[in-house]
Amino acid sequence: MTMFLATPKPVNLNPLIESTIEWLDRRSGVVGNESLVQLPWMFRWGFRLWPARCLVCGGASDLRYLDICRACLWTLPFIGSSATDVVPLRYAPPVDDGLRALKFHADWRWAAIFGAILAGWSQASGAAPVSFLVPMPLHAARRAERGFNQAAQIAKFAALWLGVAVDQRTLIRARPTRPQTTLSAARRRDNVQGAFERHPASRIRAGHSIVIALVDDVRTTGATLDTASAELESVPGVTVQRWAVASAMPTKTTSPA
Ligand SMILES: [Zn+2]
Repeated sequence: MTMFLATPKPVNLNPLIESTIEWLDRRSGVVGNESLVQLPWMFRWGFRLWPARCLVCGGASDLRYLDICRACLWTLPFIGSSATDVVPLRYAPPVDDGLRALKFHADWRWAAIFGAILAGWSQASGAAPVSFLVPMPLHAARRAERGFNQAAQIAKFAALWLGVAVDQRTLIRARPTRPQTTLSAARRRDNVQGAFERHPASRIRAGHSIVIALVDDVRTTGATLDTASAELESVPGVTVQRWAVASAMPTKTTSPA
């Protein structure tokens, strides 16, 4: 039972979306009196100084600590079922615009929205709790050129909502790869083969049973996530959940409702 029954739910009747929003409401202290792990004070104070505005409709946001309103969140292109990976959205408007605003214009507000949605979706879909998040690394040259790694920004906000750490050291992109979008499916696999290595000082140790979330912005064929997660799972005891904000492949939508 939530306090927001009056909010319209225009397009989706997917219970996972409802559960995601309920989790975000509990986590941000909007409902329930047992506050989970407290969100960092700097994050909360930022929203006191600059109240949340919806990046989709431009109105004031009625979701606490999120620059998107409830009505607009409901209309995002969510994927019907949770399937195996934690990938809540399709790469379609306004999600594609948001991902580009983050990647090319360093708009952290979108990283915050996508991170929160990923965190909520992982909870709603019943994914096993993770020990920490590993962002999909960029090659050092690409990172220097862009100044940041967009997957790491998304992972930071997801981790903040979940109350876990981000580990940016464990996984390295050892050689530059061509953008996957320019290649055929078969070439994509070759392109990323052997591209990832574990850092010698990795916090992952063989024999410790551990669940990690590998976080990317967009999943296309899944070749990059496959290759990178295989590198992490080569350590005995490690299980990797593959997380991405959006899927750029045509996805069969189902209606669990
Ligand atoms: Zn809105």
